[in-house]
Amino acid sequence: MKIISADFVTSAAAGGTDLGIPRDGLPQVAMAGRSNVGKSTLINKLLRRQVARTSAAPGKTRLVNVFRITVEGGPRQGSGQGVRGRWSLYLVDLPGYGYARGGDSAAEELRAVAEAYFAGSAPQTFLLVDSRHPGLESDHQAYRWLTTLGVDPLIVATKMDKLSRAERTRNLRELERIFGKPALPVSAERGEGLEQLWTTIAKAGRAARIKAADEGTTT
Ligand code: GDP
Repeated sequence: MKIISADFVTSAAAGGTDLGIPRDGLPQVAMAGRSNVGKSTLINKLLRRQVARTSAAPGKTRLVNVFRITVEGGPRQGSGQGVRGRWSLYLVDLPGYGYARGGDSAAEELRAVAEAYFAGSAPQTFLLVDSRHPGLESDHQAYRWLTTLGVDPLIVATKMDKLSRAERTRNLRELERIFGKPALPVSAERGEGLEQLWTTIAKAGRAARIKAADEGTTT
């Protein structure tokens, strides 16, 4: 799979109902996570470009950043064929939450934009959690918020390279217990899990394209 282009499209601040996010029928995938979870680093690694700004000052960004990505081909899914030809999607980078705030209001920053962004649509969303800290209340709260908005987030456990073998097993098990589904372990540093993440993104993109075609939307 080749990444043809990955371009920044727009930034949108929380507030109001129209975030200015394109709604032109192209598939979208969204990424959410606590500030400093490693979201920008992962996006840059995934796209093999420095598109997302890594946080020198965590918690500063309260913006939704939208990137338009065009790739050629795609990973094989199961025993099926790989994706052929070029396809595009929007990667929507939701604002980090929980920086310098306690549990209860931690997901508020995410909530404001999430409510506007997810109004009327529920694209595939990845909730990034730090693999070293399973069970943070802010993550759990964000997860609950997303589910109340009709989103079924996939859990991505970041910074796996920081864990010992024993911690790895223990923390992944703990995450599965908390969220009721297995987390995808990734390390932007070592490249672990990036292939699986692309597969999931490609799958979500394909499902969204099929749905859009069924509904007669232009893609
Ligand atoms: P964001 O606020 O979620 O966008 O987080 P950043 O991408 O800015 O990363 C926060 C910090 O975690 C930075 O110091 C990164 O270098 C570090 N980091 C991000 N991903 C990884 C990883 O996979 N492994 C390790 N060891 N550190 C990481």
